Amino acid sequence: MLTMTHYVNGAHTAASTRSQEIFEPATGECRGQVSLASRDEVSAAIAIAKSAFDTWSQVTPLNRARVLFKFKALVEQHMDELAQLITLEHGKVLDDARGELIRGLEVVEFACGIPHLLKGEHTQQVGGGVDAWSVNQALGVVAGIAPFNFPVMVPMWMFPIAIACGNTFIMKPSEKDPSAVMRIAELLTQAGLPAGVFNVVNGDKEAVDTLLSHEDIQAVSFVGSTPIAEYIYSTASKHGKRVQALGGAKNHMLLMPDADLDQAVSALMGAAYGSAGERCMAISVVLAVGDVGDKLVDKLLPQIQQLKVGNGLTPEMEMGPLISRQHLAKVTEFVDAGVKEGATLVVDGRQLTVADHQQGYFLGACLFDNVTPEMRIYREEIFGPVLSIVRVKDYASALALINQHEFGNGTAIFTQSGEAARHFCHHVQVGMVGVNVPIPVPMAFHSFGGWKRSLFGPLHMHGPDGVRFYTKRKAITARWPVGKQTQAEFVMPTMK
Ligand code: NAD
Repeated sequence: MLTMTHYVNGAHTAASTRSQEIFEPATGECRGQVSLASRDEVSAAIAIAKSAFDTWSQVTPLNRARVLFKFKALVEQHMDELAQLITLEHGKVLDDARGELIRGLEVVEFACGIPHLLKGEHTQQVGGGVDAWSVNQALGVVAGIAPFNFPVMVPMWMFPIAIACGNTFIMKPSEKDPSAVMRIAELLTQAGLPAGVFNVVNGDKEAVDTLLSHEDIQAVSFVGSTPIAEYIYSTASKHGKRVQALGGAKNHMLLMPDADLDQAVSALMGAAYGSAGERCMAISVVLAVGDVGDKLVDKLLPQIQQLKVGNGLTPEMEMGPLISRQHLAKVTEFVDAGVKEGATLVVDGRQLTVADHQQGYFLGACLFDNVTPEMRIYREEIFGPVLSIVRVKDYASALALINQHEFGNGTAIFTQSGEAARHFCHHVQVGMVGVNVPIPVPMAFHSFGGWKRSLFGPLHMHGPDGVRFYTKRKAITARWPVGKQTQAEFVMPTMK
């Protein structure tokens, strides 16, 4: 049985007093125990990271980038092993796990450009004999808290840029699937990252609360559900930290009657059911405009029936299990609620069984039609393979629905009209928008983040906002007077 502890100061630690079981979602079997760090254990890791900061922040940006170049090569070398770990503990299919790793590596590639990204601004002669410039300096020890659904990609949205900027890092992964990020910590050490620069503490609320309130943590990056994101934002802000807290989602696809329906349906299949709907950018609602609804159901139905659901480690599978028995119960309860509220359950995934995996947390793809905005399945994030079709009379009512929803993470319009697409991009109240692109996750050199109750804090993650978040600006104004010291001046200084 696996015993997962913490990774601090370049090595695995002893086990904590408290621990929790880790399961394999495809089989329902317990795979081992993960330690849950106490306040003292987290504080000890922070002290190590604080002392590592003194030297790491003075390493040249070029040499910090060189460690990341080596790390990138090691992740590529260990891609299959890491993907297996993700699939084993999360459940997503192997190709999807590889995709997650590649999207994470793109942030490493971006962070390898840190010597360029850290450059400040310089103005000569802002006044007579006076020059001014600004520099971007590291913050100190920063923390990342991640959700279960992207056990490597989400940490990689955070730590590559943070450490490239010269910070040291404490990662708190999800307690449900911590193994892959622990392996990442070992690979960082192998790449030459000095001990104490990247540390992993496993744990639950006690570990998180320590990070939020500890005086030596300068900034907190969080990704997870909205209630916890809001709690993280308010608590860490109260303790004087910088915070970016990304929350939940309910992403709508606006399907216009003029869209290429075959293309839209293929896009929808992956966006709704990929990773069993456990993606913050999954499409969970289609707004079918005008008369497109019937045609959409006709085309979706056979594709859903052919979906291959099973153990993610089996190569031909397209959808794996949900993360836990509790989550399976929660998503099933949403399906029950949708039926009770009067939506039409066109495809019912509740009866699915996967051969030789009776104890696995599987739910087949579900499709609801005639969903209305008052229903719970429309208002709340389900985070499972449940797609809702809402029929709307026109584009304006569809746009109004998206804009009224409490979440604003991602959205997409499918249309052949440039005018409709342009209007949509301009007026939709959502942070990430796709035009005939179902999951518009920005590339690493742009930034990722939602609007409304999908993000708490002003800055998005990775890309330019990532560098901004993990550095503080210093503005320097300098004069080198040679033999002409002037009189004391008591007015607000102005440049002459
Ligand atoms: P979660 O909020 O339950 O947990 C996220 C992290 O917070 C975990 O590390 C967990 O240990 C910690 N945590 C949980 N409860 C806590 C508490 N009471 N106090 C302190 N810390 C606590 O989320 P999850 O179930 O792991 O992940 C799924 C959620 O994440 C979904 O809502 C999904 O939309 C969201 N998500 C959002 C994005 C985004 O970019 N906006 C990306 C991925 C996932």
